[in-house]
Order: sequence, then structure tokens, then C-alpha cells
Amino acid sequence: GGVSGLSAAWRLAGAGLDLRVLELEPRPGGTSAWGEDGVVPYPWGAHYLAAPNVEARATLRLLEQMGVVTGWDAAGRPTFDPRRLCHAPGERLFYEGAWHAGLAPVDALPADALEELERFHALEEELTELRGSDGRAAFQIPLDRSSRDPELLALDRMSMAAWLDREGYRTPFLRWYARYAMLDDFGGELEEISAWAGLHYFAGRKARTPELAGSRYLIWPEGNGRLVKALLERAAPRVSLGALVTSVRPQPGGRVEVDYVDVQRGEARRVEARAAILAAPAFVVRRIFAGGAAGELPARVASAWLVANLHVERPLDPNHAWDSVLYGAEGLGYVDARHQLTDLAAGATQRSRLEAPRQRTVLTYYRAYGGPDVAGARAALLGAPWASLAEGVLRDLAPAHPHLRDDVGRMDVMIWGHAMPRPRPGFLGPRPFEPVCALDERVAWAHVDQPGMALFEEAHASGVRAAETIAAALGLALGESWL
Ligand SMILES: Cc1cc2nc3c(=O)[nH]c(=O)nc-3n(C[C@H](O)[C@H](O)[C@H](O)COP(=O)(O)OP(=O)(O)OC[C@H]3O[C@@H](n4cnc5c(N)ncnc54)[C@H](O)[C@@H]3O)c2cc1C
Repeated sequence: GGVSGLSAAWRLAGAGLDLRVLELEPRPGGTSAWGEDGVVPYPWGAHYLAAPNVEARATLRLLEQMGVVTGWDAAGRPTFDPRRLCHAPGERLFYEGAWHAGLAPVDALPADALEELERFHALEEELTELRGSDGRAAFQIPLDRSSRDPELLALDRMSMAAWLDREGYRTPFLRWYARYAMLDDFGGELEEISAWAGLHYFAGRKARTPELAGSRYLIWPEGNGRLVKALLERAAPRVSLGALVTSVRPQPGGRVEVDYVDVQRGEARRVEARAAILAAPAFVVRRIFAGGAAGELPARVASAWLVANLHVERPLDPNHAWDSVLYGAEGLGYVDARHQLTDLAAGATQRSRLEAPRQRTVLTYYRAYGGPDVAGARAALLGAPWASLAEGVLRDLAPAHPHLRDDVGRMDVMIWGHAMPRPRPGFLGPRPFEPVCALDERVAWAHVDQPGMALFEEAHASGVRAAETIAAALGLALGESWL
């Protein structure tokens, strides 16, 4: 029931199959799940999709179906519904006691930090355009379209920290900036992330059209939950929530037996299927499926994350941005679910917090737990009472929002034990970009653990690949690949 599984269902819709989704959680979406409180929906995990590269064909197809891609320009590049492109102010940074537009407080940085930042941005542009010896883009999305040039792949043998050292990036601001990005997308510290993955973060996105000059982020109040809803609507599978799959076994005669527990009733159930797609993390698949290619699944270390949804009565200050980040904080900041709604202007002219009109919204706070002891971080989070987690969130945001405690009507906290795979040095493996997909003749695997980078486009492509693999095994004609 995550993005990869629902993307597989989306690809198979219309093929005449009886599609069944078994999802252990009480809600669909996996790490792209969302919540509703009757005021404004809000994300529990993934909160944006950057304007996809033209190579992310399946994702662009979905966006076109949703009306988010409105057309194609003469150069074959997509145009987007402007209501979905994050409007200003998009990102802001609380740095040395004041908010600054964007993530780089250029007016406040010392000269050496500014010089490094400019050098880094110039390199970012260069790497975005760079092609390997095989003519492919050095860093591409989906990942498997990236160059196989050995010189580029060698970057996967060092950490992002080592690469920054080698290239002479030393100022505290640049190191913070790069660390923030690694925690934000990969849940790991600079020392824990492959330099190839780190540079992919900065150079993988190629969409550069005039309409994206303001922002290239596609956002919805419920974040990527909107994309999950779109997949569900179009695939229309039968979804069983609270269904914990415990075993998947291919049987002679072309059947696959799937055992699951109905969590609500505490009852064991069995489904007989013609084929199965296991759209779950590698460590889960290893437990529920024995044999076939399961032994070849990549080993991934998954970081823990904390996500808190703060229900507030009114804007915290006059200039709310979509994404507010605090320099030096433990967490990654928060996004405002109401940002893209058109009644936003209501709070914009207030002179003080107390004058602000009521305009309820939900602020989604994120914190990724880097560091080597992932199991320890996970256990500590799971064992911590709500009060101490909530206190930690308020404390972390206090430098920018000292009165936050008075403004929050409710705070819900979610612990993601295995939030996302960390692309550690060596994550590309011995056969880069050749994902293990078919586990057996009629069993396929889909998940962001496959590429090793947790992005919507990767989950989506992974699901589509699994669906097309299974369709071929069943002799179904799905037409041309959507990848
Ligand atoms: C906090 C957070 C923020 C993120 N932000 C972004 C973002 O802004 N943009 C972005 O592109 N990506 C973001 N991501 C990455 C996000 O993980 C991917 O975009 C995508 O949602 C991954 O989908 P998936 O299907 O591969 O994996 P998952 O989301 O892990 O889905 C797997 C599903 O399988 C279910 N499952 C597992 N085991 C079983 C079992 N035994 N039986 C039944 N069901 C089972 C799980 O409950 C889950 O629903 C974020 C991730 C997190 C955690």
C-alpha cells in the first residue's frame, strides 16, 4: 500500500486482473501517507515532488492524468499547473536570529562562506549538465538512467564528507548546507552517505524552464498523499488495511499462496493469487519470501525519523513560508499544509502574532536520525513517551518561535522506525543500476530499497517495473513500457 505497490496496481489497471492490495497499516500510502482533521489535510511523510525530469516518464504520465502536467513545450518539456508549483515565499532559513528568504542567507554570511557557496552552486550547475563517457547524464532520475562511466561511479566509493574535504569545502555554513541535504533526503550524516548519492541530490534534477524559475516544487496540503490518492483512484484495487503479510509461497501449477494476519481481528488469512508483487522494504521481503532471488536483495540501512504534526490556530508570524528551516537545529524544520491554499493572504498583513486572525493550519515538523546506531535510535524513539518527544519538538523550534507552546492546540507524533534507506558508500553495488526485480517466475519486488534512494519517482518506477515484469510472466499484453 505504499507508492511502489500502488504504482504497480496503477500500471496493471485495465489488464483484466483482480488486483488486491494487502497493507499492514490502517491507512494507505506507506511513507507518503497523510492525515485529515477536517480543516486541512497534512502529510505524515513525503511532502513534495520536485518537477520531474523528462526521463521520469511514468511519473509524468501520472501527473498528466492528474492534470498537473498541463502540456508540453516545443522542446518536449512538460508544463505544470501553476497552482501546484510552490508559490513565494517557498523556503526560508532562521539564521542568527532572523528569517532569510531561501536556504542561503547571502546577506548575512561571512565572505569565505559566500565564496564557497558560490563555488558550490557553480559546480552544481556543471554537474547537472555533465555527461559520462557513455553519453548519459552523470546523475539522472530515475537512477538507472545515469551514466555507467567508471570515473563517475568511483564517487560511490567515498563518503560525501570525504568528497567535501577533497574539494576544499570547509566553512561551517557550506558543511551545514550539505549535511542538511543529506539528512533531508537520505536520513544520514555526511560521513554516512555515498558521494555519488550526495552529488546526485544536487545535480540529479534537470527541469529548468522559465515557469520553474520561482520554484520547482510541486506541493499539495497533504504532500505526496495527493499522489497516493491519484494512484488509488486510477488503479481502484481492492485494498485490505491492517493486513500483515507473513508469507508468500509460489506453488506448483502457477499459483502463489499469500498468508496474512488480519490485525484488527487477530485472524490468519490466505489468498491464492496468480502472481504477487512484494512492495515492501528488503528486510521485510527477506522474512516473508524464501528462495528465488530473495538472497540477492540489497542490504540497506534504514534511518529512523520523527514526524510531528502541530495543529495551530493561526500563522506563527506574518511571513509564513512553505518550508521553514532553522540553522543549527536538530530537526529539518517544518512545512505549512495551508501554504498553497489561496486564502493564505488572510494572515499576511498582521503586525503582531496576537493580531493574526484565526486561520487554522497544520505544521509538519521533520527530524531525521543520522549516526551509526540506527537500531539504538529506533529503540530510543519507540520507548520515549509522547510528552518528551513533543517537548523536544517545541524546544527545537523555540529559537524562531518562542511562543509556539501557546499556539499549538494539538501535536501528534509519528515514529518511522525504518523511514528510508541510506545510500551509503558502495550502495550502487557490484552491478550498478541492474535492480533485482523478479524474485521468482510469478513474484516480483518493488520498493525504494531497490535503487537505494527514497524518491517518489524511484518508488513509482520500481512499481511500474514490477508490474511490467509480472504482466510479461502472465502473458498479458500491456503495450509499450511506461518506463
Ligand atoms: C519522513 C519522510 C519524508 C519523505 N519526504 C519525501 C519527499 O518529500 N519527497 C519524496 O519524493 N520522497 C520522500 N520520502 C521518501 C518516500 O519514502 C518515497 O517517496 C516513497 O513514498 C516510498 O514508497 P515505497 O512504496 O517504496 O515504500 P514504503 O513507503 O516503505 O511502502 C511500503 C509499504 O509496505 C507496507 N508493508 C511493509 N511490510 C508489510 C507487510 N509485511 N505486510 C503488508 N504491508 C507491509 C508498509 O506499511 C508500507 O505501506 C520521505 C520519506 C519519509 C519517511
